[in-house]
Amino acid sequence: MTGPKHSCGVGGISADYDVSPSLYTALMIIQHRGQESAGISVFDGASIGTLKNNGLVNVALPKDDVAKVLGHVGVGHVRYSTTGNKSAVNAQPITVSTNFDTVAVAHNGDITNFSDLKEKYRSEGWTFLTDSDSELVTKLLGKFMTMYNDPVKSIRATMGELDGSYALTILINDRLFAIRDPYGFRPLCLGRLDGGYIAVSESAAIDALHGEFVRDIEPGEICEITKDTFKIYPAVAQHPRAYCMFEWVYFARPDSVLDGSEVYDVRKKIGEILARECPADVDLVMPVPDSGRAHAIGYSMVAGIPYEEGFMKNRFVERTFILPDQKQREAAVSMKMNPIKSTVSGKRIMIVDDSIVRGTTLKKLITMLRNAGAKEVHVRIGSPPIIAPCYYGVDMKSRDQFIATKHSVDEIKEIIGADSLGYISLEGLVEAIGFKESDLCLACVNGKYPTCIPGEVHRFQTNLHESFGTDQSDKKI
Ligand code: 5GP
Ligand code: MG
Repeated sequence: MTGPKHSCGVGGISADYDVSPSLYTALMIIQHRGQESAGISVFDGASIGTLKNNGLVNVALPKDDVAKVLGHVGVGHVRYSTTGNKSAVNAQPITVSTNFDTVAVAHNGDITNFSDLKEKYRSEGWTFLTDSDSELVTKLLGKFMTMYNDPVKSIRATMGELDGSYALTILINDRLFAIRDPYGFRPLCLGRLDGGYIAVSESAAIDALHGEFVRDIEPGEICEITKDTFKIYPAVAQHPRAYCMFEWVYFARPDSVLDGSEVYDVRKKIGEILARECPADVDLVMPVPDSGRAHAIGYSMVAGIPYEEGFMKNRFVERTFILPDQKQREAAVSMKMNPIKSTVSGKRIMIVDDSIVRGTTLKKLITMLRNAGAKEVHVRIGSPPIIAPCYYGVDMKSRDQFIATKHSVDEIKEIIGADSLGYISLEGLVEAIGFKESDLCLACVNGKYPTCIPGEVHRFQTNLHESFGTDQSDKKI
């Protein structure tokens, strides 16, 4: 699979006032979903105007410029990409014009049959400006609008071509749609505002706009949004769900509620379950800020061990996770985190984090704690070992980057230099999220994929002789 990875954030608003400032607010609230670029597209009554650029929302979208983008209906996007795909041409929303319409698309997810589709349409003479799967989605919509001149029919036809994960907000001239793929990998919900409606990746954005949460967009649904109401065009096919577990574990904001399950509550439960599954005799429990905070609180409460803040995190350091080489990642961790000596000195410490991917963060943090005088350092992790790549939008791409594909838990404990290491069990994680295991995508921790990925195991595959490489039997819509 080629093309940028997207664990992005999307939004769309229709209202009886100019929506750009509200889109800006919504994007600020979902900024954690992507810091590479941001953009808005708004229909002004005649055409769609777009403002997008690299950088954080407040850099990419200067307030004065936002105020000039007028119109009562629009979509917005924040983009997370890995290094190498930083070009502003990949910023979203992506727009195309057909003979009759302009279409703007904001996409969160990864289209798994992107390469095949791109090849197919290239051979039909299409050209592409970017290496982004979202451009393909936009062009497909444009193609079907030219054929059918019917937005819902065109969206259905587009969904029929796409495999993989997509939460989309789409503008077709003045009509706004919010769409979720039939598995529901990425979140998308609907809220009522004073004088309008919003669809957005996370419910926290509805709160910030003083709106009222209405419902989640269900997997496979097409939701049309106007300033006065919304209309659901039901999913054509029923599918098993595959909500991404990593949204609750790491990606989403703790104050968001995804498909009825509050992120903070799930993380705290993960910590509680971890405390029961992997107890330890320690003096205090500390989070790896910020991602391990709620997990650590849950652990501390059930274990009856005091919770302390033992690391100061520098908020102004860029993300360490996506830096291109190991030396840079390690150096960046020390710039980002510093232990509070009085908290840790002479203590037996438990640190809790959401996940171990390469092991860089924890190895470095444990050394820092020991240098600051910690007597023992124990580690608990809020997800099972990550062993398989994500093809659906989370930035975990190749098996050789995962420490847990090459090493046992005991070996990882040695490598990161911990006195003990415990991961939550898969059953424990499922219990904390509160859905049936079959409603979740757990591919990164069990290697079983909800959709057909060539060379990977399908989650309902019963024997090794079944070939899923070319099987399209679960094609949707
Ligand atoms: P490691 O240092 O083991 O490679 O990565 C684990 C750390 O990175 C954890 O603290 C976790 O919160 C964070 N992390 C996990 N997945 C992602 C991701 O997709 N993006 C970013 N930026 N951080 C991540
Ligand atoms: Mg973290």
